[in-house]
Formats: sequence, C-alpha cells, structure tokens
Amino acid sequence: MSSSVKLSISPDFKDIYLLADEVPVFKTFLSGKWFLGSETFDVKTPIDGSLIARVSKPDWFLVEDSLRMVREVGRWRVRDLPGDKRLEIIFKTADLLESRIEDFTEVLVLNAGKLRSQAKGEVTASIERLRKAPLDLRSIYGDYVPGDWSFQTLESEAVVRREPYGVVLSIIPYNYPLFDTVNKFTYSFVAGNAVLIKPPSADPIVVLMFVKTALDAGVPPESVGVVTLSGKEMSKLVSDPRIDVISFTGSTEVGKEVLRSAGIKQFIMELGGGDPVIVLSDANLEVASQKIVTGITSYAGQRCDAIKIVIVEESVYEDLKNMLVRDLSKVRVGDPRSEESGMGPLIDERSVNEVIEAVNDSLRLGGKILYGGRRLGPTYVEPTLIEITDKKALEKAKLYRDEVFGPIALITSFRDLDEAVRIANGRRYGLDAAIFGHDIVKIRKLVRYLEVGVIYVNEFPRHGIGYYPFGGRKESGIGREGIGYSIEQVTALKTIIYNYKGTGIWHYM
Ligand code: NAP
Repeated sequence: MSSSVKLSISPDFKDIYLLADEVPVFKTFLSGKWFLGSETFDVKTPIDGSLIARVSKPDWFLVEDSLRMVREVGRWRVRDLPGDKRLEIIFKTADLLESRIEDFTEVLVLNAGKLRSQAKGEVTASIERLRKAPLDLRSIYGDYVPGDWSFQTLESEAVVRREPYGVVLSIIPYNYPLFDTVNKFTYSFVAGNAVLIKPPSADPIVVLMFVKTALDAGVPPESVGVVTLSGKEMSKLVSDPRIDVISFTGSTEVGKEVLRSAGIKQFIMELGGGDPVIVLSDANLEVASQKIVTGITSYAGQRCDAIKIVIVEESVYEDLKNMLVRDLSKVRVGDPRSEESGMGPLIDERSVNEVIEAVNDSLRLGGKILYGGRRLGPTYVEPTLIEITDKKALEKAKLYRDEVFGPIALITSFRDLDEAVRIANGRRYGLDAAIFGHDIVKIRKLVRYLEVGVIYVNEFPRHGIGYYPFGGRKESGIGREGIGYSIEQVTALKTIIYNYKGTGIWHYM
C-alpha cells in the first residue's frame, strides 16, 4: 500500500491543466474561460496519501464575475435553446463521456480510492443518467384552469406553466463526485437553467473533466462555472440572491449550515443518514447476509445509503449474526487498483479516526466487536460489525446517533415489529430502510410506519441513477432526486390569467 501514485490523463484534457514538477495543475472554469490561478490547493490520493494534482483557486472577484455572467447571459443562452437542442447537447455529452470512460475511471480509482469496478460503475451510471434525460422532460408540463367555477373569476381563465428558475448552484460531495455532478447538471440544464458547480475539495478533478466534456459537446460556456473554493469559503456565494436554487448533496451538519446562510431560495438537500435494515424471521438468511455485507462495505461504507444498523427478529438473530461474520471475513481490504481487493481505503485519515472512535464509544457502552474494528493503515480499516443488545445503550451509541462514514454497522435484535420500528425511527435520519422477509402483513406494517424516503424489500439500499426517486425525511433532507422528479424543484410555476370580461365570449347571467 505504499507506492506513490501518479495521475496520467489523455490528450483530450490537455487544455485544462499544466505540468509543474510532474504534478498536473488544473485550471478551473469561470466567466466562460479556463483559468489558471496563482493560488492552488493540493489534491491527494487516499491510496497512499501522495500528492496527485493541484487545482486553481479563484478569488472572490472572479467568482462574482462568473455569477454575473451566468445570471445575465448564461441563463438566457440555455433558456433560448429549444428543448430538443438541449437534449442533443446532453446526448453528445454522454457520447463523449463514453469515449473518455477510461480517463474518468482511472481518476476515480486514484482520487476517490474506488475499486475499478465501482469507478467504472460510476462513469457508466453517469452516461446512463445523461441518456435518460428525455424522461425528465415528462415533468415539464402545464395546467389550464377554467374560471367557470368561481363567481369572482367568471369570463377569465388561467394557464399555469413551468419555467426555469435561472441559476442552480450544485454542491457536490466527495463520494460520488462525477455522478452527482452529472445528475444535478442534467436536470438543471434540461429544464433550462444555468449551473454553477462547487466540487468536493478532496476529489474535484472529475468535475473539471466533466465540465470540459460538456463544453466540448456544445454547452454554452457562459452558462456553466466551477467554483473551486473550499466549503468554508462558500457562504458569500450561497447567500447571494442571484442564486435561485441550491442543490446540495452532503452531510446533515453542512446542510444545516447551508440552510442557515442561504436565505430564501429553493432547495434540494440530499443529506446524510446511513440506513437501517430489518430482517424478519422468514427471510432467506443467506441472501440477506450477502446483501447486507455489500450494503455495509460497498465503497467502504462511504455512501449515504450504506447500511448502519441491522435489526434482526430474535428467532433468527444468532444464525444471521454468524453468517454476517462469515461473509464480512471474505471482504479483502487493500489497494483499490488491485483486482484482489474487495474494499479500498477511506477518503482520508480523519475518516478512519472517526470509525475507530465510534468503535471505542460502542465498547464503552457495553458493545461487542463481532468482526473487524482495527485500523489497517492511515486510510484503511477493517469492515466492522458491533453488537449492542441493551436498547438503552444502543440509543446512546455514536453509531446510532450520528452517521459514521465508513464500513461499520451495529447489530441488535427485536422481539416484535413495534420494537423494530422504534429502533429504526429513533434515529434522527430518515433516508432509506431495507426489509428482508416474506410475510406480506409484517412487511406492509413496516412500510406504513417507517419514516424514510425509500424502502427496499429484499434488496440492500442503493439509489442507483435515480430511476426510482430518492430523498430523505427528518434530518436526511428536503426534496427528491430522481429522473423526472428533481426537475420540478428547478422550475417555477407561473400562473397567467386572461381576463375576457365583457367581450361577449361567455354569456353568464
Ligand atoms: P460534506 O462534508 O457535507 O461536503 C459536501 C460538499 O459541501 C462539499 O463540496 C463541501 O466542500 C461543501 N461544503 C462544506 N462546507 C460548506 C459550506 N459551509 N457551504 C457550502 N458548501 C460547503 O459531505 P462529504 O463528506 O463530501 O459527503 C459525504 C456526505 O454526503 C455524507 O453525509 C453522505 O450521507 C452525504 N450524501 C448524501 C446523499 C443523498 O442522496 N442523501 C448522497 C451522497 C452523499 P469541501 O469539500 O470543500 O469541504
């Protein structure tokens, strides 16, 4: 795990970086141009912590100029494009992304620490998302409201139409830097908006590569910008009234900060959580165990929809516990470039520290490590399962109260469905839940009472490309991301009332 890592990118991207001491220094895209800053920030690989790139940082004047451009020029350049032309650009972007799939995959492996299969999966999901843009368009419809049903409105009528808000600020988390950028860009652009993108500081390179690809496909340069500031420097932009919509994906804590500083705007907030899974006594335990282990360890648990607590009916508790330990022990942790590895690193050392702190916190509360719990290197940790049987202690555990963003989950048992619901709903989050089992009455009862955005029956939670809409309740978010759903939140309703009183069209008494 110690070799130093070097980024090599194809000539398709030669315009967006320069080499300095063999390290690429990326430009950023603002005010319709690629810009090389005198100030930069370092981008490291989680594989061994080595420096793989630097990225230009703009000053506020450039960000402000870019905002002025998207507001005054860019949003009209998109809005004035006929819908089929917007789709043509989106399809061309998908084709170009496909032709550059190896570049994007490589950067996701090195910069995000994803296994090659997962990195490729993120790129193909992004291509697929772009190609599904026609399904978004089904949501851009209007209404006709006749005036006949109210004495006040006789001899008038209204059309209620949807139109783009104007400027969408997309704030991207590190765990799906490409897909989240593509998804937010697709629904915003197809609806006719200009888009400013704030990439994650840990792995911003694929965002810059995507914007280059979208520009090559014909996206008007005035209508897009990449704000490579750190999160801490964002409050001025977030609060600017020229931003109409904030589409944020990230942690609940940062999400609350964004809501506090933004003022009155439209929001799509895809926040944190981690999910509960409830296993009923008639579940196929072998299938459940394999899927739960994938749900805990996929991308080292750094997914909003990762499983964080397994709640098992008492009669099958011991059996499932043993199967989970067996299946977790099959997950090989290592360098994500190796075909042998089944789980790679966490994004940084701090994230592993948090996992270890959560393990110690659980032990203090009487929890027991069933599997894992050890650090394997600065950014590597074992997949971990912790048992807490005492329900009072469970509620106090950090792993229950907060989202610990790593390959770690709690396990506990339940006696009846009410207890299972109490444990699942007792967390402050409400993103998704999974149920394994076949008793339709029990499943139907759980579906009624679980306070979450999505319920997966006999599957582990995975949002995929958003073909089925997802989004949280409680502290997991506001709004929905999903093909054909998010578009409603980046378009405004406008009612136009036509008054024909006294013109003789109608003959009301
Ligand atoms: P994060 O720390 O909350 O950061 C998310 C983004 O917000 C980053 O671009 C970050 O920039 C930026 N940011 C930080 N402070 C900001 C501020 N004050 N104003 C504006 N932007 C700010 O989250 P993360 O660690 O990257 O991602 C993991 C989190 O995302 C998890 O909690 C996960 O559950 C959640 N997530 C949710 C979904 C969903 O669909 N619900 C999907 C994926 C991820 P910097 O990188 O510069 O700090």
